Amino acid sequence: MIQKDDWRLLNDVEYLKNKEINPTDGEELAKNAPYLKECIFCWEKVRDNFRQWWYLPTDMSCCICEECYNDFKDMFNWRKLDGWDIDWTMRCPKCHTELKVISNQDYVYSCENCNILYDENFEDELQLEKHITDWREEALMKSLYEIDGFLTEDIQNINTFESHISEKVLSVLLEWACYGQNTAGIVLGRKYIAEIPKQWLQEHLLTVVKEYFDYTDDWNYRRLLELVKEQIPELLNDIIAVNSDTDNPHLLDIIEDYR
Ligand SMILES: [Zn+2]
Ligand SMILES: [Zn+2]
Repeated sequence: MIQKDDWRLLNDVEYLKNKEINPTDGEELAKNAPYLKECIFCWEKVRDNFRQWWYLPTDMSCCICEECYNDFKDMFNWRKLDGWDIDWTMRCPKCHTELKVISNQDYVYSCENCNILYDENFEDELQLEKHITDWREEALMKSLYEIDGFLTEDIQNINTFESHISEKVLSVLLEWACYGQNTAGIVLGRKYIAEIPKQWLQEHLLTVVKEYFDYTDDWNYRRLLELVKEQIPELLNDIIAVNSDTDNPHLLDIIEDYR
């Protein structure tokens, strides 16, 4: 006879009252629902073994070991199903919403509700925000490193590099700050440009824009003027002048906004 103060009832199990329960085994669980790792009552571990019986509520929110199933089935008034119609949709272990599969990553599943990424075995998780930031930082670092091994920590000393390197670096940062459609990328590019010594930036920006920057594209050009107005307003007129002979109505609109 199970006592009402059985330690296993201290877990968050109240919601399992009157549920329909499917039987399955450890092998099936390991294969189809790797996010279910242990018995919600006694924390017995799921093993990849078809001889280990398990019980699942139809919402797949947890799993119950054989011993706990037998001990609590009357107290919880469970109705046992035949186990044929288990919904094996991958679900978030925290909120139980359906997970999205992402590919080519260490983290294979994402929960858009919790903003968390999970690896294949649900052994490691990562906040989505952090992942995206890391990914962009890494991509930016790589694109700078391709310029003669330039490192992001050298941006503050960019004035000590030869101009064929430093100007290329600035051109890449400008692309990040201005070309992309993604706010996080734009912010990252601007953040690094803000680290450049002001005097060097004043002396080289116009050259770099003329040589490398696609300023005839109105999206890029608007982002560039935003950046210049914010960080080096003394160059605003020079940057407006690079498109002075345009008859593109979009560019003319932008110039009008900044004049
Ligand atoms: Zn158990
Ligand atoms: Zn979630």
